[in-house]
Amino acid sequence: MGIKMKVRKSSSKTVSKTVACLAADMLQQSKSYTVSKHTTFLQHCDYKKIKCACEETTVISYTLTKMKPVQINTMKMRIVNLFTSSNIRFYSNGQKNIYNVLVVGGGIVGFATARALLLRNKHLRVGLVEKENRPSVHQSGHNSGVIHAGIYYKPGSMRAKMCVEGLYKTYEYCAKNNIPYKKCGKLIVATEESQIKSLNDLYERGLENGTPDIKLINGNDIKTIEPYCNGVRAIHSPHTGIVDWAVVTKQYAIDFASLGGQIIYNFKVKSFDECKHNKALKIISEKNNVVLADYVITCGGLQSDKLSLMTGCKADPYILPIRGEYLLLGKEKAHLIKGNIYPVPDSSLPFLGVHFTPRMDGSVFLGPNAVLALKQEGYSWSDVSISNTIRLLKLDGVQKLMAKHMKFGINETIKSVFPAKQLKEIQNYIPDIKKNDIKNGPTGVRAQPLWADGTMAEDLVLDIASNDPSDLVKHRIMHCRSAPSPSATSSLPIGEVIVDKMFEKYPNLNHIPN
Ligand SMILES: Cc1cc2nc3c(=O)[nH]c(=O)nc-3n(C[C@H](O)[C@H](O)[C@H](O)COP(=O)(O)OP(=O)(O)OC[C@H]3O[C@@H](n4cnc5c(N)ncnc54)[C@H](O)[C@@H]3O)c2cc1C
Repeated sequence: MGIKMKVRKSSSKTVSKTVACLAADMLQQSKSYTVSKHTTFLQHCDYKKIKCACEETTVISYTLTKMKPVQINTMKMRIVNLFTSSNIRFYSNGQKNIYNVLVVGGGIVGFATARALLLRNKHLRVGLVEKENRPSVHQSGHNSGVIHAGIYYKPGSMRAKMCVEGLYKTYEYCAKNNIPYKKCGKLIVATEESQIKSLNDLYERGLENGTPDIKLINGNDIKTIEPYCNGVRAIHSPHTGIVDWAVVTKQYAIDFASLGGQIIYNFKVKSFDECKHNKALKIISEKNNVVLADYVITCGGLQSDKLSLMTGCKADPYILPIRGEYLLLGKEKAHLIKGNIYPVPDSSLPFLGVHFTPRMDGSVFLGPNAVLALKQEGYSWSDVSISNTIRLLKLDGVQKLMAKHMKFGINETIKSVFPAKQLKEIQNYIPDIKKNDIKNGPTGVRAQPLWADGTMAEDLVLDIASNDPSDLVKHRIMHCRSAPSPSATSSLPIGEVIVDKMFEKYPNLNHIPN
């Protein structure tokens, strides 16, 4: 980049301010240049940032005060070139809807990422758009509320590492921000001798993953921890806990805003385009509102495949919406459950089985089951999108998955239609729970990423459509296509990993002045 700009200390404050104004003026894409406009800029622009930029890129070799208007105009053009070719913009404090990075999606992953971007470089201008009118309306606000300890996941995988790291970071974060949580522990219970081998394997896996302080215990020990629970052997994980993940997400949003991030709700991204005029990305909402950004990261949860298709990414991993329906234990029986109680899972399925989960509000969830939702955000059988369901059912990968797990799928659907069918399973663990003690509870829909060959995506999947920097839309938009569950627990590490990848892929983000 040829032009250099030197702001001479000796050439008085006015000169450097003029340079600052020019730069700010350029960046605002202002067509006209007037002294009064400068004065306004001086009042509003983040003068320190601009000055820093000017000094860093050092250029002008003559004193601006001595320049004629025509020379100033030439200088203006040169500064425009300088800034547009470096892909970096500087902004005045009052400027809205133009960002260095825009995050799409106001769930726990989106807010963790947005927050991590500003913690990495506080000078970035970061925005977050969310289609709903508040954070965590979908997965992040409809889940079991468990802080997982990383027992289940494939040793060495990012999923396993991020979960254990997320466990520690969540407790630290909650303590620091006065977010209520309970470290109530968890038992994974074998109710029959035939399950003991799988339980032992799981225990070894937990040790490999670094799950803290897990122990294998026998039937008598189970009773000391969960007096009403039957079982022959169990894994005890004392550091598993519970929290309201919607409260955690809200706190991430507060952090983000207090670091200077801007949040725009009711903004459903419809498409991405290129703003040729200033080499920026144009993000267009369903109501045709527009924001501009240099880079975008989407964290769209259940919609992440649709967002990826908007920028020309390949079709998979598809997102299968899997609804989990909880039963609610009556208050008078809530004392039967002290901590989390889980079955020994079927390792071929991505679900942990019907579990007993105490909640922060004192209630107890039982379940959830797992049925195919008939809409991406389909919280009941009456939430149906015929076109979306047909689209999913036509996919090869979905057909393979359904063929493989046909029996499981039918069973879960029967349990969904007749919730009392779950009672037998529940009584296997806690015989004191009777039919009248349970009623239908809330539901949540999980984004299950699925590869075209029918296998489930197990780890974090980030995707960019093209490596060609001249294609802004394909190159400068990164998609988080799979944030592997339990991504509420892992949200802080996931946010950091996404930011690592963004700074690695787009090194310009490092160059915003510190
Ligand atoms: C039933 C269930 C139980 C679970 N239990 C646990 C648990 O106990 N512990 C745990 O750690 N994890 C659990 N999970 C997993 C965890 O909740 C999710 O992995 C996590 O919340 C995912 O967060 P997210 O930000 O990726 O997705 P989401 O929370 O779904 O957020 C995505 C956001 O993107 C927005 N969006 C989508 N498209 C657009 C668009 N076009 N424009 C603008 N915005 C858009 C959506 O409105 C949404 O708010 C559970 C999940 C489910 C469903």
